[in-house]
Amino acid sequence: MIIIMKDNYGRDITYLRVSVTKRCNLNCIYCGKDFCAKKEHEMSADEIYKAVKAFANLGINKVRFTGGEPLVRDDICNIIEKVSAIHGISAISLTTNGVLLKNYAHSLKRAGLHSVNISLDTLERETYKNITGADALDSVIEGIQAAQDAGLHPIKINAVLMKDINSDEAGKLISIAQDNEIDVRFIELMPFSENGNDQEKIITGNSLLQRFPELTPLPEKNSTAVYYSRDGWKGRIGFIDPISHKFCSECSRIRLLSDGKVKPCLGYDTAYDIIPCLNDEQQLKEQIEKIIKSKPASHSFDAGLNPAYGLNRTGG
Ligand code: SAM
Repeated sequence: MIIIMKDNYGRDITYLRVSVTKRCNLNCIYCGKDFCAKKEHEMSADEIYKAVKAFANLGINKVRFTGGEPLVRDDICNIIEKVSAIHGISAISLTTNGVLLKNYAHSLKRAGLHSVNISLDTLERETYKNITGADALDSVIEGIQAAQDAGLHPIKINAVLMKDINSDEAGKLISIAQDNEIDVRFIELMPFSENGNDQEKIITGNSLLQRFPELTPLPEKNSTAVYYSRDGWKGRIGFIDPISHKFCSECSRIRLLSDGKVKPCLGYDTAYDIIPCLNDEQQLKEQIEKIIKSKPASHSFDAGLNPAYGLNRTGG
């Protein structure tokens, strides 16, 4: 029988985010700097399997693959297939920028992927280029279509709005949820030293709700997002407000990075290596238990204590 592990604050830790690479095919202004192309040591598919299995034995039942950009790993389907065979893992999802999704959507579904989050901050080609450094908006739109065709469900679009960059796009992004069974979620910009800690650019969920009073709240809520919609709309609008509404007391997450380090909290740079104990089940179990117990009560973004590195290194 699997016993769910609790951290020192009584939170059940059930959700593992696995960053499979730090590499990315985009260079988003809010993410991290000058890191995209470097190939550093990445855990192999077998190493990821061993690590996730150990986490599953301690109560992890949900896994999200992220990066960097997870689809730049050409063994991503193999990784997902292996992980989907692990006893106790009941939900597997992926966060992607969607640029390569058109090529992968069906194989990912066959490998065992259930759902996908696609990052898309604008529907304007020039703004997309300014934010990501690439002229790839059309590929992302095709990727979203391919995800729908492949039967990945749910499909969520993640958007980060920034003052004077894409804040005027909120209405257009929201309208995606009108005719499509797609949730559009706005994530507040998290300041990292690497992205300049620019608090001035943050658009809060509350300010968006004031701009769109026609959105009505829905009862469902998960640990991070609150949802809204309108009568007759197929999709929902979500707000993930890590800065203005901390949800740390309900955090069930732990993060495995591509180099084999485990990060207890996104809000701190602290991470612990599990590679040295990967081949010793008991040692691995003890190391993971120790890491989970070290998870801090909350991040401190709101107090201006920001980690040095952006999400390209740690996985979003
Ligand atoms: N490459 C994939 C992608 O673009 O979705 C996965 C990695 S990316 C780091 C994961 C998510 O983190 C994206 O939705 C991105 O918008 C979000 N993200 C990155 N930096 C952020 C920041 N500073 N604040 C809020 N969200 C951020």
